Amino acid sequence: MAEPTIFERIIDGSIPSEIVYKDDLVTAFKDIAPKAENHILIVTNKPIPSVSDVEACDEVMLGHLLIVAKKIATDLGVAQSGYRLIVNCGPDGGQEVPHIHMHLLAGGKLGGLGFPSKD
Ligand code: 5GP
Repeated sequence: MAEPTIFERIIDGSIPSEIVYKDDLVTAFKDIAPKAENHILIVTNKPIPSVSDVEACDEVMLGHLLIVAKKIATDLGVAQSGYRLIVNCGPDGGQEVPHIHMHLLAGGKLGGLGFPSKD
């Protein structure tokens, strides 16, 4: 059996994190190295490596990522002012953790595409 990803270990509680939301399909927690004032990772509980590995049966779960992103944005008070959602895919896409996740970045003007610079 494959080694659990770091995100699986966060989801099962064996690695500590600041969880902001959890349900049957997804878990959301603060990024350990935030690239914006608010940087949340919304992770599928099912450990699919990347978008390139999704299947039709994952459709509801993947749509749920956006529903939860909206909820978290609302909780952060940025639903109207704006925020950015990023899904990196594969090595050239900058994906470091092989477990599907969506970045939610918020806090002031984020500038051009990609991760904002906090500096
Ligand atoms: P990726 O580059 O795969 O799209 O994003 C992975 C993200 O996971 C990075 O922003 C990185 O800071 C975050 N990360 C990596 N390890 C941990 C960890 O142990 N805890 C938390 N909270 N975030 C992590």
